[in-house]
Amino acid sequence: METTVYLGKVQSFAQGRWHTPQGKGRPVYHAVTGEPIAEISSEGLDFKGMLEYARNVGGPKLRQMTFHERARMLKALALYLNEHKAELYELSRATGATKQDAWLDIDGGIGTFFVYASKGRRELPDERFLLEGEPERISRGGTFLGHHLLVPLEGVAIHINAFNFPCWGMLEKLAPTFLAGMPAIVKPASVTAYVAERVVRLLLESGLLPEGALQLICGGVGDLFDHLTGQDVVTFTGSAETGLRLKSHPTILREAVRFNMEADSLNFSMLGPDVTPDMPEFELFLNEVVREMTIKTGQRCTAIRRTLVPADRVDAVLEALANRLREVVVGDPANERVQMGPLVSRDQVAEVRSRLQELAAAGEIVCGGDSDFQLVDADLERGAFFAPTLLYCAHPFEHTAPHTVEAFGPVNTVMPYRDLDEAIRLARMGRGSLVGSLVTADPEVARTVVLGTAAYHGRLLVLDRTCARENTGHGSPLPHLVHGGPGRAGGGEEMGGIRGLYRYMQRTALQGSPDMLTAIGNEWMPGAARPEADVHPFRKYFDDLRIGETYTTARRTVTEADIVNFAGISGDFFYAHMDDLAARESEVFQGRVAHGYFVLSAAAGLFVDPRPGPVLANYGLENLRFTKPVKPGDTIQAKLTVKQKIPREAREGERPSGVVKWHVDVTNQDDELVATYDILTLVARRPEPEA
Ligand code: NAP
Repeated sequence: METTVYLGKVQSFAQGRWHTPQGKGRPVYHAVTGEPIAEISSEGLDFKGMLEYARNVGGPKLRQMTFHERARMLKALALYLNEHKAELYELSRATGATKQDAWLDIDGGIGTFFVYASKGRRELPDERFLLEGEPERISRGGTFLGHHLLVPLEGVAIHINAFNFPCWGMLEKLAPTFLAGMPAIVKPASVTAYVAERVVRLLLESGLLPEGALQLICGGVGDLFDHLTGQDVVTFTGSAETGLRLKSHPTILREAVRFNMEADSLNFSMLGPDVTPDMPEFELFLNEVVREMTIKTGQRCTAIRRTLVPADRVDAVLEALANRLREVVVGDPANERVQMGPLVSRDQVAEVRSRLQELAAAGEIVCGGDSDFQLVDADLERGAFFAPTLLYCAHPFEHTAPHTVEAFGPVNTVMPYRDLDEAIRLARMGRGSLVGSLVTADPEVARTVVLGTAAYHGRLLVLDRTCARENTGHGSPLPHLVHGGPGRAGGGEEMGGIRGLYRYMQRTALQGSPDMLTAIGNEWMPGAARPEADVHPFRKYFDDLRIGETYTTARRTVTEADIVNFAGISGDFFYAHMDDLAARESEVFQGRVAHGYFVLSAAAGLFVDPRPGPVLANYGLENLRFTKPVKPGDTIQAKLTVKQKIPREAREGERPSGVVKWHVDVTNQDDELVATYDILTLVARRPEPEA
């Protein structure tokens, strides 16, 4: 059996130093042995001072960094945590986590840093602000444009986390916060705060974070909320009850402090009406339900709480699930045989038991629920153990408990449905959930269920044999995708790739002339000046190119021979190019026209400088539109304008370079636009002068 190492007082990190609480703190117990493991209290912290420190020290330092610098910092932090994760695994056992549970928490958390590090460098500019989408042309003459600009908020992000994922829960919030450029104060849940404290210690020890970027409150938050302003953000994960209390704090309401809430949720998993026991999808469904009930001992906000099954397959499903659940090995996660550890605390056992009573009143317990069951290397009287428990509710439309009561443990209610309409109605009775999953092999069923339940769910997983091996599971939120759900689930959104940064940034609608917007955003806007380049821009290094600088090409008259030759080379004999009669009869073309791709190729021929030089490669084209047909006899000309410059990191042994986005307009003899697009090239950086 696990021996308990007493960790002492859990410390907070405030205003640049570690703080040991005064007096006696609240005891925290080991989930397996039930012995005290630590004490927790935030007594003596200056909460107002912490906010000011973050605003005055951490914020400005982070805002001085560009997205790429912050992204590199995230990557270095992730690598540092990776090197030191063994001690986190060790510590996690005291929370009741099996190795698999700890992997989700620790490696899953570090993974969010890696994903944001990579997205930050690939999807964001090397700037301190972000331009969102394309500019809006809001005037007839083109002298007045609109664009959306995002800058980091100048306050503090307060992260209040639930107990179940002390590492992941913190890192998945910190990654978008830091990348956006905001400092954070983290308040982990008390029962597992000793893990969060160790993660923060590692992050700070790494020396990679700017001063003031991260502070930690272990224990209560005192008068912190009284001092919040509209530049701060609160991101809360926990029960709906606590969330509501915090969200309605007078300062949050008065100052319009952004509040994101990730609360509890009665997630569903549905066996499609098409799935029979002989199909691979049936097995997939059973595996998923058992896995989701037992991972983290069911203490996942995304765990399956309601299992919807066609009425004529209920007996088969109940029997198969009960058989599997009875075989789950429960006990001390230190023993390799153990598949499910304890709940986080004995308080939680009492809580789950009382919720189970409410659920049982709406149906029957099929397996588990008993307080006497087999444990490996553990004592039921001391540890926080709870058996995997399956309920059956035969009349789910007549009871509210299965749709409203969350037992935050390995507890799940199976309910029958007669047709897809009933199944969808049941799924929606969760009144807003984080996730729903459907196991089906029928695309029509998938479409009906997704469109019928999407408004009530933050994420939907459709599982079939094709994605079975690679799917990431019902319960796992991913940094690339949005996590959060409407209504009962809190109405919040976290992660979701770059979207996750917007919570920590102000979006400002910017209006002005194209030249002003170009100067502000450092990105050429349509209608802004296009000064003619002194030398061909393909002869210039990345560093020497100026935004807006333009090369106007020579002209070229397109002939019938061009069209025939291009058709021969490309094999594209579409009638509009090759069949004069059909082209003349066509309402669209009214005569033979050149291939659009010929126009592109001819434009490249006009603007390219063929000699070897700083332009290393052309690797793509965006926003292409052919706006007017080009006929034999038309004369075309191109304008090549430096639209945007994106520096990039050189890999080892690679020549330093940057991405240049060029805007190209191709016009005809009447100055009418015939094609417009952006091309992406890799351009070498100017070599450093030899010392
Ligand atoms: P909780 O009791 O609501 O606590 C959540 C957090 O709020 C903890 O850090 C807690 O700190 C803090 N807190 C409580 N009262 C507070 C107050 N007056 N002022 C400031 N902070 C306060 O929830 P939990 O028991 O930790 O977590 C379990 C619940 O969270 C479940 O219902 C689960 O569904 C939900 N959850 C949701 C998600 C999601 O992403 N949607 C993820 C995980 C969990 P103390 O521990 O110090 O009280």
